[in-house]
Formats: sequence, structure tokens, C-alpha cells
Amino acid sequence: MLQPPQLASDLQHAVEDAAAHLYVWALKDIPQDLRDALSDARHRETSVPGKRVLETIHRNINVADSEKNLVCQDTGIAVYHAKVGEHFPLHPARIYEALRDGTARATIEHPLRSNAVHTLTRENTGPNIGYRLPIVHWEFALDSDELDLKCVPKGSGSENMSFLKMLNPADGVKGVKQFVLESIVGAGGKPCPPGIVGVGIGGSADYAMALAKDAIMRPIGTRNPDPIVAELEDELLDLLNETGIGPMGLGGDVTVLNCHIEHADTHMTLNPVAVNYQCWAARRASAHIGADGSIDYDNAV
Ligand code: SF4
Repeated sequence: MLQPPQLASDLQHAVEDAAAHLYVWALKDIPQDLRDALSDARHRETSVPGKRVLETIHRNINVADSEKNLVCQDTGIAVYHAKVGEHFPLHPARIYEALRDGTARATIEHPLRSNAVHTLTRENTGPNIGYRLPIVHWEFALDSDELDLKCVPKGSGSENMSFLKMLNPADGVKGVKQFVLESIVGAGGKPCPPGIVGVGIGGSADYAMALAKDAIMRPIGTRNPDPIVAELEDELLDLLNETGIGPMGLGGDVTVLNCHIEHADTHMTLNPVAVNYQCWAARRASAHIGADGSIDYDNAV
């Protein structure tokens, strides 16, 4: 049910506040699951250059924590995942406006580096906002009056290492594995490994890539609820770490922290597969916003 104008505007402000907080929080304070995965990688890595890289990442995170500063200078492109309950009393058009205003506010107030440019003229378009920026992935939930909001600032080094292939259906799962491996081997050290390999399978070309992005937004090591897909996640994780690319591409045992897959059913003559890489600075922060405007911050999801 939509709210009277004053209440709607209060709720829009609450969403804007949440977006402004999430963007900065994500950039400064990486989630515990990522800290654990990087620590595990540091202990597991046996190559000398690989160990050095992981030690440097460890020191980098400690400095960011103690100085309350950014984990990486690339403030990325602001990407949100918004899961809107059917009874959340603010229209998605207003939610989008709040996300845009919150992103701009965080950028100006902190201040943060502004990366947004017109894609042809390359002129800066504002405080990390612009035409169709920030990017929002939408999901809708039945029987809910809440908004679950997740902010995933996406660094360009890893986003540039995104790949899509329209496989032949006859290529099957073998073709999917081959494409993911070829993509990550080809990317080498460019996406700042070790990170999360997000794989989107099925749907259409555009949807497969959106699914790959959704996959990198999950907490590290979570598994797809479909056991067949979860098995492929485990298999790809092992195969990717056998490539020997290692931290920052300098060789080693830990090429990726994990591999997550999201999938959709597809046309019988389609077999799309997309890869979206998330770097070691896999920043992520979430908030649950109630219908009354209450905000509950949580970076475990
Ligand atoms: S890819 Fe990630 S770690 Fe590398 S520079 Fe960009 S944000 Fe930083």
C-alpha cells in the first residue's frame, strides 16, 4: 500500500541514508567472510611471490581498518541489489531516486573519487552518478513489507575481465567449464586475483551476465541451492585453483577465493554462459529497511 506523501518522503530519505552509508561502509570495511577467505588463502599459499601478495593484502586491510580508510583507491561503479517486498510502501521509481541521491551524497560528503563519465565523450557526469548510474539489480519478494538493499562497489580492473559466450547446446556442461577456465586463464593477473568468479548460465545473453554479477554478490563460499549447480561450483573452484595463476597472477596455489554460479532456464537452442570477476577487494554491505523507515545494517549477507 502506498503511503501519504509525507510518510513516503520520510521513507525515501531513509533509503537515501541507507545508500549513502552502505556505499562508504562497503568501501572501508570488508565483510567477515572475505576476511576469513583471504586469511585462509594466506595460510594455504605455498609460492613465495603468492604469499608476499597475500601478506601485502593483509597489511593493506589492517591499515584501512586502523585508519578508517578505503580498502582500495578505486571506489568503483556503484552497483546495488534491491529486493523489494510487495508491501514495501515506496515505489521502485522513488527507491531508484533515493539510491542515486545517496550515492551522490556519499561521494560528495566523504569525499570519494568520482569515476562516472559519459561513455562516448568521457566527461565526468557527477558524483558517481550519471545517465543510468548507479546500476540497480531488482528483485521482488512476495509477503514482505521490507526492502533488502545491498551495495557492491565494482572495481574496473575486475569488471574489465567480464566474458560472455553463446555456447552451442551440444557443448553442454563441458563447454561451460572450458569457457570459464579459458576466461580466467586469459585474464591472468588483470582482475586483481584472488577473488570471486561469478558465473551466469542460461536465460539470454544479457540475463546470463546479470546472473554472473548476482553470483559475485553472494557471501564467499555460499552454495547454489540446486545441488547440481553447487557440485559444478565445487568442481570449478578446484579446476580454477589448479591453473597456477596465483595471487595477482604471479603464480601460486590460490587463483580464486571461490566460484559462485547463478542460473536460469533457457531456450532449447541456447546455452549462454557469462563470467564476471570480483577482485580480492570484494566489497559488499547490506541493509534491511522496514516499512516504518527503520534501518538494520548487516554485511553478513
Ligand atoms: S580491481 Fe579491485 S583491487 Fe584491483 S584496483 Fe580495482 S577495486 Fe582495487
